Amino acid sequence: MNSPTTDTIAAVASAPGMAGVGVVRVSGPAVPAIAATLLGRAPTSRHAHFAVFRNGNGELIDRGLLLHFPAPASYTGEHVLELQGHGSAVLLDLLLRRCCELGARLARPGEFTERAFLNGKLDLAQAEAVADLIAARSQAGARAALQSMEGVFSRKVDALLQSLIALRVHIEAAIDFPEEEIDFLADPAITARLDSLRHELAELLREAQRGVRLNDGLKVAIVGRPNAGKSSLLNALAGSDRAIVTPVAGTTRDVLREHLDLDGIALELADTAGLRDTDDEVEREGVRRAHGELQRADVALLVTDAEHADADQRFFANLPAGVERVVMINKIDLDQAPARSGQRNGTRWLWASAKTGAGLDALRKALRLLAGAGGEGSFSARRRHVLALETVRDHLTRTATVLATTRAGELAAEELRQAQQALGEITGSYSSDDLLGAIFSSFCIGK
Ligand code: GDP
Ligand code: ZN
Repeated sequence: MNSPTTDTIAAVASAPGMAGVGVVRVSGPAVPAIAATLLGRAPTSRHAHFAVFRNGNGELIDRGLLLHFPAPASYTGEHVLELQGHGSAVLLDLLLRRCCELGARLARPGEFTERAFLNGKLDLAQAEAVADLIAARSQAGARAALQSMEGVFSRKVDALLQSLIALRVHIEAAIDFPEEEIDFLADPAITARLDSLRHELAELLREAQRGVRLNDGLKVAIVGRPNAGKSSLLNALAGSDRAIVTPVAGTTRDVLREHLDLDGIALELADTAGLRDTDDEVEREGVRRAHGELQRADVALLVTDAEHADADQRFFANLPAGVERVVMINKIDLDQAPARSGQRNGTRWLWASAKTGAGLDALRKALRLLAGAGGEGSFSARRRHVLALETVRDHLTRTATVLATTRAGELAAEELRQAQQALGEITGSYSSDDLLGAIFSSFCIGK
């Protein structure tokens, strides 16, 4: 990684294509000089100057606005220059070249935000939320990313980190007094602190899992025997004829995916081929993909009918823990049964008709709830964060075991040290260059 203070970077920050206005952003130590050359005099801080942008030969490039944000009160923490011109790719490219002539170089994707992170303007989770906000596919996703960008998630992680460090210091202190160590570690106050830490962590893990769903969209795998009405349901929810609906069993052979905005909530629906034993080569491939789909789903939505509902529960066999189950008894129009819904053994049951649309509102409502909609202050998160929190949870579990059995202070302290490290990876207090590279390279250029 380059030192953030040695060179000056520039990029077109607005989206490519035609627009009323386009923005070139520059950050680094050469900014005051570049600004003075472009403006013909030193700019006033945070003031919108009208400027005539010219190339090295004095030829007109464009007229627009020039804004100088001096370090450290800027997005990156360095001197930042924003040039607003007409939103033409050609003009913006000329303006960008002019900045490079004057001492800037082209920025890599995410490099502005990377500098903001390196200069302590944002922590890693907040920086990731910037990218997630830009890429948000739904209103709920955008709102959640904004919360994370403002530090809602990071503050919870930091609070947990402080409690964890306090407990660790306590236990490490005990190790220094070997005669008293055993008694000390048996102290119920220590166990109580560890317990409350584990509770807080479990709560944060649940919130982060919801944050991932808000960010990525809720992944719903629609499963069921051939002809149950899976494709019809996908079409009804998506409002199109994307999936092939035919009365011949086994037509949906591939996995069809549909991204859906359900009242501001992002859904990813996958219509899988019927899960069943089959001799047919192509269909077997479809069945294999359906199994794969269930492994990565948030929700397994079984489409069945009154006659097959019990037998079809086998579709839920080998479902990973944490995948929500929804059973939809379809085709209620055939026996004129009423639409209704309920809960049984942790499974949601709905009676509906993909054909008439009866009962589908209850399904939409259930999916919205599962997607984490409506939670005030919900923040966005990434899978990386959830994995880190799971690692923390496992270390805390082992700490509890150690305290309850061998009472070996060294072991407990080591588990807590590793838990602290995993937690620190979320906000970037512990992070490798590889991790940072992977995160920032997925940004768009100019951010
Ligand atoms: P899939 O194989 O599970 O994808 O099932 P399809 O969506 O292709 O539907 C199979 C057949 O059932 C088609 O003829 C659909 O029109 C019909 N079907 C699907 N849903 C309903 C429903 O709610 N009521 C009735 N009467 N027929 C339905
Ligand atoms: Zn189908």
